[in-house]
Amino acid sequence: MTWKPTDLKTYMASVRPQFEEMLAQWVELPSVSSDPQHHDDIWRTATLAVQFLREMGATARIVKTRGYPAVVGGWTVGKQHPTLTIYNHLDVQPAQEPEWRQSPFTFRKEGDRYRGRGTTDDKGPALTALFAARYAVEHGIPLNIRFLWELEEEIGSPHFQDILNQRTLVSKPQSVLVSDTIWVSRTQPAISCGLRGLLAARLTLRTGTTDVHSGLTGGGARNPLAELCDIVHACVDAKTGRVKIPGFYDDVVRPTRQEMQGFLRSGFQVSRFKRAFGFRSLRTEICADLIRRIWTDPTFEVHGLVGGHMGPGVKTVVPPSGELKVSMRLVPNQNPDRILALLRRFVKERNPMIKVESDGKLEPFRGITEGPYAEALRQAVRDGFGKEPAQVREGGSIGAVALMQRAWNVPILFMGLSLPEHGYHAPNEYFDWGQASGGMRVFAHYFNNLAKMG
Ligand SMILES: [Zn+2]
Repeated sequence: MTWKPTDLKTYMASVRPQFEEMLAQWVELPSVSSDPQHHDDIWRTATLAVQFLREMGATARIVKTRGYPAVVGGWTVGKQHPTLTIYNHLDVQPAQEPEWRQSPFTFRKEGDRYRGRGTTDDKGPALTALFAARYAVEHGIPLNIRFLWELEEEIGSPHFQDILNQRTLVSKPQSVLVSDTIWVSRTQPAISCGLRGLLAARLTLRTGTTDVHSGLTGGGARNPLAELCDIVHACVDAKTGRVKIPGFYDDVVRPTRQEMQGFLRSGFQVSRFKRAFGFRSLRTEICADLIRRIWTDPTFEVHGLVGGHMGPGVKTVVPPSGELKVSMRLVPNQNPDRILALLRRFVKERNPMIKVESDGKLEPFRGITEGPYAEALRQAVRDGFGKEPAQVREGGSIGAVALMQRAWNVPILFMGLSLPEHGYHAPNEYFDWGQASGGMRVFAHYFNNLAKMG
């Protein structure tokens, strides 16, 4: 058979019941990677994924790690043809939010909407890509399509390197497509072209052995909580967010004017952002400034300060120790190890007794915006959704991306299908057929465009 985009409509209508049935089965397995109680559900999800791939006519197998496994599979239509690896993840966020109006792990179809934890992040997009790939294979598109489905994405991909190291099972493709990102608005397709990285750290200070009375010792006793607050003040301007650690901004690459214009076309609205996250006020209400702050500027956040009297009322103790939990979102080309070294040196100079311990790091990622791959994807989005895509960035991190980049050094592109209203990492998550069918069209066109590139 040959490629005829007009067949796609018929194909999508015919596969819709199967798509929904498979999504239902996946959603009803609570593959919460952060909760050890769901250990068996993760493995069941992987087994079901293998079964799905085989039912679709693809090869499939589980790749074991010291943690949770990954699932790989796909079609090799000819060794002389290029190979694309599609990345998705099949683990999900916990779903304990009281706002759920249904049981989160019961799949519910309401018209075009598919409700349940994991529908949009990221099981729905994974299935969308799978159905598009089968279409491409059935229509003789000369492209080898492989899937790489992770089950530890929501916990920071601790064993993803293990997976990449198993090179006979997970071999290097010519390019990668990651489908795990969000548009800014339903009416404006968006292609992400960068991710922020992360450096998390715990700062601890111990100056005594036990709580002491502030009337008996206060004035002479050091106060570790106050000293940790002082370090926060030294590291960041709490009002503006400006980081004050010397050298912190040295490697930051600012977005070009052209990129900024693209971001502004994404449909981003300050008022909607405020409403979506329930903010009463923000550091800025200027659209371009807010976009820059959440997508392309690095941050320094305080997540918690532990110590002293945490119960009701005031208890007049001087605590013996304190722990400060912080993290920095990093942007291209900041390096988490270098930033950690800067933080350590800075803290040591100001307060040598504070211990700095790193608590996880992810490299930032700068995607491709020019050249044949970027154009092939943009063209596919025009064909799939009938609109010119906007280029955006992700303020968050996908740990696997930087690792694939380092292991393979091939073009990595992003085509997410989630919408802000889908409840990504939030209660009442859903996915919808509009995004699934549009996504299938985009993927099918992209596969065809890649095959033409050879
Ligand atoms: Zn995700």
